[in-house]
Amino acid sequence: EAISIEDAPRRTDERTLASKGVWVFAEQRQGEMPEVVLELMGHGKRLADELGVELGAVVLGDQVKGQAEELFALGADVVYVADDPCLADFNDDAYCEVLAKLIKKYQPEIFLAGATSIGRSLVPRVATAVETGLTADCTSLTIDSERRLLLQTRPAFGGNIMATIICPQARPQMATVRPRVMKKGERTPGQTGRLIELTLEGKEKTGTRVLEVVKALDEKVNLTGAEVVVVGGRGLGGPEGFDLVRELAEALNGVVGATRGAVDLEWIGHAHQVGQTGRTIAPKLYIGLGVSGAVQHLVGMQASDTIVAVNTDPNAPIFEVATYGIVGDLFKVVPAMLDRLREL
Ligand code: FAD
Repeated sequence: EAISIEDAPRRTDERTLASKGVWVFAEQRQGEMPEVVLELMGHGKRLADELGVELGAVVLGDQVKGQAEELFALGADVVYVADDPCLADFNDDAYCEVLAKLIKKYQPEIFLAGATSIGRSLVPRVATAVETGLTADCTSLTIDSERRLLLQTRPAFGGNIMATIICPQARPQMATVRPRVMKKGERTPGQTGRLIELTLEGKEKTGTRVLEVVKALDEKVNLTGAEVVVVGGRGLGGPEGFDLVRELAEALNGVVGATRGAVDLEWIGHAHQVGQTGRTIAPKLYIGLGVSGAVQHLVGMQASDTIVAVNTDPNAPIFEVATYGIVGDLFKVVPAMLDRLREL
């Protein structure tokens, strides 16, 4: 049921009133934390500061206590660690049991995890175990400090609208967040905090055993790791328009991206697609050529540091997020850019 945030019921029961702190699930695989953890630590710190509470980070695994140092450097006030050989590989049942136990004991107000394959599998189970709601796949999180509500925004109805979802009464307010929609946190080496270790009772050991971990083959298009991405849209007029995109990408040592509009017309492969149903990117430089800036595209690129848009239509929505907007024909603007780049 849709209600306005102003009409949201106030927290009343003991559990919601007692809840405190913003927690980030510091997912790790074979000791490596994905980038989304750094992004969540950065954003979690801002949310915790706004609420005037502590930032907590939770690490589960085997021999993972050492990661506390990195989490303190990223701004954690408290790090909760469950270090046990039975948690060495990700396991839904055992991880869920440990997290639910920690949440029930320490009662965080907000719990955030990455919308990774682990987060997507684990967090719904934890939400059920602690009897709260979950907003999956968020692209933005802000605070209504008067009501102490987490405003959780995500695409809804097939991506046609951006919905803001609240969890007025149950706690914690739980969300999984897409990688690369938030800026990474700053590191302050040497910063410390409190370390809380959870001793397992042995019950967490389940019948599941990981026999082998096989790494996925490297993607041919390294969109997510690229520092420069040049994206072509339908304004290119046809598949041959991508020759110009490739030329500019090459000149800037970048990677070629595309809108779904161009991919659906089969001008280029889906591996290049940026947006809600493609890759989420946050390069240092994004250049959009003939891209209108539909909301489903913007959610996949708006965290880029510098956004340059070339479009003939001055009212194209891409100009609302662009750092530099060039109103003009890409077939004139890009050759001029290439000429200038060759001079440098
Ligand atoms: P258009 O919207 O047609 O824009 C073309 C632009 O080119 C126009 O603004 C025009 O002014 C400009 N132009 C034309 N000629 C020139 C020229 N010579 N020089 C300069 N500019 C020119 N889209 C994505 O990109 N990624 C997604 O992941 C994605 N997921 C979606 C999921 C769902 C469920 C839905 C419903 C849609 C999704 N879309 C996605 C599609 C999205 O809504 C848009 O349709 C799409 O992004 C439009 O692509 P475009 O900008 O290339 O084309």
